[in-house]
Amino acid sequence: MASCTPPLIHAATVAPLRIDQTPPVPAIDICIIGAGIVGLALARELSNAFPSREIVVLEKHGRIGEETSSRNSEVIHAGIYYAPGSIKANSCVRGRELLYRYCEKYQIPHRRIGKLIVAARSEIAALENIQYRARANGVDSLEFLDTNQLHRLEPHVQADVALWSPETGIVDSHGLMTSFLGEAEANGVTLALHTELTGAEPLGNGPGFRLQIQSGPEAMTLDSRVLINCAGLHAVSVATRIAGLLPSSLPEMSFIKGNYMSLTGKSPFVHLIYPVPDPAQRGLGIHATLDMAGQCRFGPDIEPVDNLEYTVDLLRMPLFIKEIQQYYPELEANRLQTAYAGIRPRIKTAGSTVPDFVIQDKDSHGLEGLWQLFGIESPGLTASMALAEHVRDQVRNSAIIGTGTAIL
Ligand SMILES: Cc1cc2nc3c(=O)[nH]c(=O)nc-3n(C[C@H](O)[C@H](O)[C@H](O)COP(=O)(O)OP(=O)(O)OC[C@H]3O[C@@H](n4cnc5c(N)ncnc54)[C@H](O)[C@@H]3O)c2cc1C
Repeated sequence: MASCTPPLIHAATVAPLRIDQTPPVPAIDICIIGAGIVGLALARELSNAFPSREIVVLEKHGRIGEETSSRNSEVIHAGIYYAPGSIKANSCVRGRELLYRYCEKYQIPHRRIGKLIVAARSEIAALENIQYRARANGVDSLEFLDTNQLHRLEPHVQADVALWSPETGIVDSHGLMTSFLGEAEANGVTLALHTELTGAEPLGNGPGFRLQIQSGPEAMTLDSRVLINCAGLHAVSVATRIAGLLPSSLPEMSFIKGNYMSLTGKSPFVHLIYPVPDPAQRGLGIHATLDMAGQCRFGPDIEPVDNLEYTVDLLRMPLFIKEIQQYYPELEANRLQTAYAGIRPRIKTAGSTVPDFVIQDKDSHGLEGLWQLFGIESPGLTASMALAEHVRDQVRNSAIIGTGTAIL
């Protein structure tokens, strides 16, 4: 975990000051807004792709991954629920492969423990639909289990049938972020903590932006040829501070809180246990996940909110008990306690359409050199390395950044 704020601008990038000049504005090649899992995956990917380019990550908090990236289930999803051809489906499947490979190579704590989607006989058609959709996404590994097979794996789960997903796993998300950051910093990336982007305007003489930045008590200006907005819950708010962006180019967002309750004592499960998702809820249902230490927690539920407030309300407990007892009737309610909450940045869509991730480039908003990622809810952790690859290819294809050594 990075704990100190490195100097934002390398001295070498600042030209010597002549007495009759105003100080030149320091210039870099790529500025990434947000040190969540996506911003850090991007910093790693872009610093590998453009090794001699100056890359800075701005993070308004004092530590990396303080928002959604440390408030989730830490599940490596297989990629089975999302609409075939969607960015969510493609980036989840590709991201999962990249993530397992990365975790193995760099020994990031993770376990491919598998998941069971458990159902009553009346829900078999829903499970078949999941299996069908998974196949369309290239995930062929799902298997139906009958009650006996299920009980051999999970004796405490009550269900008639289950769908087994061997590719699903769990990861230490902080270990992963720290590793992305370590690799990026070794490549020369600068992380500026306590540093917030407060405004930006296009330079006007070619691609690039003049950025207004608040770094602790100090206001500063910085030019960057490429600007990447991966500010998570704040991505739309950041976008509204970029001059020249039409508000009509921005998606409408909602915030959906997901609360967790933890189970004290030994976990009754050794795999992840999910109910059949309820399409009206647009969530995966209150499921049982395990962390790397084997602790069991249940969640997340679905709570639309207007502000970013993370307290878990004890009044939600009865809903949890009711949902969990559907598949775990032995639950002793006094073993449940409030844990933590995360908030999904969800794009508003008509009716019951499930929103996709949105990645905007010049073609969407008209500003050359600007990339924006909106609505990166689940499976954003799993998809992070694939999203980074995708943006890397777009930056490379734009030819704004060559692989040479000169900056602006
Ligand atoms: C309840 C819940 C459960 C989930 N479970 C899973 C799961 O099991 N598996 C999975 O794959 N995904 C899961 N996700 C999704 C995953 O957590 C997110 O997709 C992912 O963490 C998003 O990362 P991010 O980097 O886009 O956003 P964030 O982690 O929110 O990072 C954005 C960063 O930008 C910074 N920032 C914002 N504005 C500014 C500014 N103006 N200047 C500087 N910095 C700024 C913020 O401080 C923040 O650190 C879950 C999400 C939720 C809410």
